[in-house]
Amino acid sequence: MATIPRADCPHISTVSDAPAPANSACAECAAPAPTRVCLTCGHVGCCDSTRGHATAHAQASGHPIIRSLPLSTGSFTWCYECKAYLQ
Ligand SMILES: [Zn+2]
Ligand SMILES: [Zn+2]
Ligand SMILES: [Zn+2]
Repeated sequence: MATIPRADCPHISTVSDAPAPANSACAECAAPAPTRVCLTCGHVGCCDSTRGHATAHAQASGHPIIRSLPLSTGSFTWCYECKAYLQ
């Protein structure tokens, strides 16, 4: 998996830098962790090693970028369009 500078992702400017997660658990299956928040709409979904609802949301909605929860300086940011972590 690649890591690219934020400035190289053309999608980051279309989303919020300060997302407000709609839930703390996955909206689809209530998995409490690990979860990801959609930076476009605040949808919370579980990760690919759980049931993959964060990825399913991104594909269904076209929302490009997620962050890992809980939000902290250690949270990673992933762009589905660039298929890369953003630094
Ligand atoms: Zn991107
Ligand atoms: Zn789920
Ligand atoms: Zn979304």
